[in-house]
Amino acid sequence: MRDFFCQCGNILYFQNNMCLQCGRSVGYVPRAALMTAIEPIGHGRWQVPAAGQIAGREYKLCENTAIYDACNWLVPADDPHALCVSCRLTRTIPDLGVERHLELWRRIEAAKRHLLYSLTALKLPIIGREADPERGLVFDFLADADAASEFTDPLPGHEPVTTGHANGLITLNIAEADDVARARMREQMGEHYRTLLGHFRHEIGHYYWMQLIEDGPYLAGFRRLFGDERSDYGAALTRHYEQGPPPDWSEHYISRYASAHPWEDWAECWAHYLHMRDTLETAANHDLVKPRPWQRDATDFDTLTYQWTQLTIAVNAVNRSMGLPDAYPFALNVAASQKLAFIHDIVDRAGHAQY
Ligand SMILES: [Zn+2]
Ligand SMILES: [Zn+2]
Ligand SMILES: [Zn+2]
Repeated sequence: MRDFFCQCGNILYFQNNMCLQCGRSVGYVPRAALMTAIEPIGHGRWQVPAAGQIAGREYKLCENTAIYDACNWLVPADDPHALCVSCRLTRTIPDLGVERHLELWRRIEAAKRHLLYSLTALKLPIIGREADPERGLVFDFLADADAASEFTDPLPGHEPVTTGHANGLITLNIAEADDVARARMREQMGEHYRTLLGHFRHEIGHYYWMQLIEDGPYLAGFRRLFGDERSDYGAALTRHYEQGPPPDWSEHYISRYASAHPWEDWAECWAHYLHMRDTLETAANHDLVKPRPWQRDATDFDTLTYQWTQLTIAVNAVNRSMGLPDAYPFALNVAASQKLAFIHDIVDRAGHAQY
């Protein structure tokens, strides 16, 4: 993610709603992909004070900011919607009558906004249910029936909420926003990396498979690299959970779970690709990326991989010096690199298409 600055010169982070140096309210303008200071001008309206591409424009706070402190995105003052473009994509929020749910929901929306930032930066199409009622993107954030009681097993007779994607609908079990519950799941599943943002990046991968691969010109290329997705999905997952990954999974896949089925392989690689692009953007903003001297501005996949390798070696070394686990507990094998290169190509082309 890129850096943002307040009109006073202080650095602003993507989740801020106030500048800690000058005390101004701040918000994010999605259309300009910009964090900015805002000043109240009455009647619930706010104006961008300083020079720049959106200077003088008027906005209102997203309704979820005003009521729940669960957002920091701005809505153009003349927009008929009360919610920002991110909150509008959420169809179901957890029952806020349960005290803990508000905090979990805030974390979830924050991770979702981060996801949307990356998708917009890559110029990927984000089509909601308003435009496509059948397969548009929409989110349900749900709690297990007994979520109030420490995220243990659901009540008898209640199915647990499964995080997943179907026809544009992304469902997330809000227990994933609870650090203790997520850490327990991570241990149970034998994973080294499990984050809220990672979940969103994985599930949106399924959405883009539907948007960009299914019935399209890349399907044959997909099957060559990832396998035939028409193999029985339910049986594949059952086999994965009963038997685990094949012993040589690390030579062919980016993660254990990727070996379960071609769709999961795609979603795992897609998530990984978004990790790479966003983290490299952040690193470049902090002068941590070493450009290849002969390809200073290149964004080809070889350069990305080169920069990624240099960066992840460094951040893992830094983490070890701090006595922390590796920030990047992966090793890219040849097959996984080919899959990432395929995704890079598709994202690049989708970004140049008109939506
Ligand atoms: Zn400031
Ligand atoms: Zn919002
Ligand atoms: Zn999946």
